[in-house]
Amino acid sequence: MQKTLKIKNEPYWWSDAKPEFVAQEEWPSNADVVIVGAGYTGLSAALTLLDSGLKVIIIDKEIAGFGASSRNGGITSGKIKPSIRELKAKFGLDLSKQIVEEGDLARKDLYDFIEKEKIDCDLKINGMFVGATSKKGLENQKKEADFNFRTIGIENKIIEKKDVPNFIESNKYVGGIFDDKIGSIHPAKLVKSMIHLVLKKGGLIFDKTTFKKSERNGKKFNILTNKGLVKSNHLIIATNAYTDKNIPWLRKKLIPVISEMISTCEIGNNRVKSLMPKLTTFGEALNLFYYFRPSPDGKRILIGGRRVRYNNENPTKKLKSGLLEIFPGLNDIEISNHWYGFVTFPVDQIPKLVMHEGIIYAAGYCGSGTVWSRWFGKKAAEIILNFEQKSAFYNIPFRKIPFYNGYPWFVPVAIKYFKMQDWWINSRE
Ligand SMILES: Cc1cc2nc3c(=O)[nH]c(=O)nc-3n(C[C@H](O)[C@H](O)[C@H](O)COP(=O)(O)OP(=O)(O)OC[C@H]3O[C@@H](n4cnc5c(N)ncnc54)[C@H](O)[C@@H]3O)c2cc1C
Repeated sequence: MQKTLKIKNEPYWWSDAKPEFVAQEEWPSNADVVIVGAGYTGLSAALTLLDSGLKVIIIDKEIAGFGASSRNGGITSGKIKPSIRELKAKFGLDLSKQIVEEGDLARKDLYDFIEKEKIDCDLKINGMFVGATSKKGLENQKKEADFNFRTIGIENKIIEKKDVPNFIESNKYVGGIFDDKIGSIHPAKLVKSMIHLVLKKGGLIFDKTTFKKSERNGKKFNILTNKGLVKSNHLIIATNAYTDKNIPWLRKKLIPVISEMISTCEIGNNRVKSLMPKLTTFGEALNLFYYFRPSPDGKRILIGGRRVRYNNENPTKKLKSGLLEIFPGLNDIEISNHWYGFVTFPVDQIPKLVMHEGIIYAAGYCGSGTVWSRWFGKKAAEIILNFEQKSAFYNIPFRKIPFYNGYPWFVPVAIKYFKMQDWWINSRE
């Protein structure tokens, strides 16, 4: 009888690039900028500020890169949840256009950064196929594509059912949209390289250092941490889904959700390629969707989704059955890793870059932060550097969530509602 492998409960990515402690310097008494959170957002802000010669300190209550930045799927989406139709209704045509174009700009900026800094993070611009799981789903994709073209001239490439096998060998999808600008990276290699770059440029990173509170002292901030006090001219909060009770203003405006992934054991390049002929990345046109991709060496498949039940669920089993729904022929394979992390949603599902009482907050990427977080970190730094060209997202206000103190008790109810919507789409032919 075949022996079942023990599943490793840590990101597949960490076998190549596990976050490590950074050698600690003496605790400084002052800085130009203190950044809380050493993921893509905080590190990117630091890199931009260091290039302008400022003294920058990053603190992280775990170790640098411990959060979502070393755990994600590495799909360089740069998309936002609301459709262009919804954006237009809310913000009018001009701002909607700027928001959508900024996604392309941000993605391109990530690719340029990787190239310029010669970062080895397995970047492949191999596109993303977002599959429709019903005729109604495909019809909706076509309607949105038509609207997007008519209003802001964006072309979405619709894939008809007969062409689906060019992208994926699965009966689950009746068509979809393909975006050739999206790609994939090795997320943990990217964050590790960013940490090395920050240190190389003279930035100070303090692991196991928790932000406790900050107070205004004239034009400066007194920032209290478990390591001591530091005075700083500026403060950037880059804690995203890991925002804790020490940062109540932000915590009460974000809804954290678990996103989790599994990796298959090696199934071989040929088998992966037979299922994903173009070795692209994938998503689904559903509320509660799976995202999946080949591993950078093309020998495994990695698949992720949101945790939809918070009690008595075996998450590895659930993700494996999701994988088998897509590729039933993989019923003989084993899973090597299961892991999870947190993503977070503002109530309007629009990523946020805001200044409140002099503090800059960049957060709320709705599970699509590989591109956005690095970009928002850079844009946060540019606010301090007084760049004239602000992000189109700058100061789009956070909507308050009534009676919410940061404990997302209503997530299971919201998930039920989204499930029903998905069921409705899938049941209409
Ligand atoms: C399983 C998973 C899959 C994903 N897949 C994708 C994908 O394929 N494509 C995509 O675009 N996005 C994806 N994402 C989202 C993406 O990873 C995140 O949006 C992005 O990494 C956020 O980066 P960040 O720097 O803002 O936050 P993080 O990397 O989460 O860093 C925040 C840091 O803040 C620290 N912190 C919190 N509170 C304090 C405090 N009080 N004091 C000091 N430090 C503190 C934490 O320790 C943490 O290290 C995924 C996320 C997960 C979890």
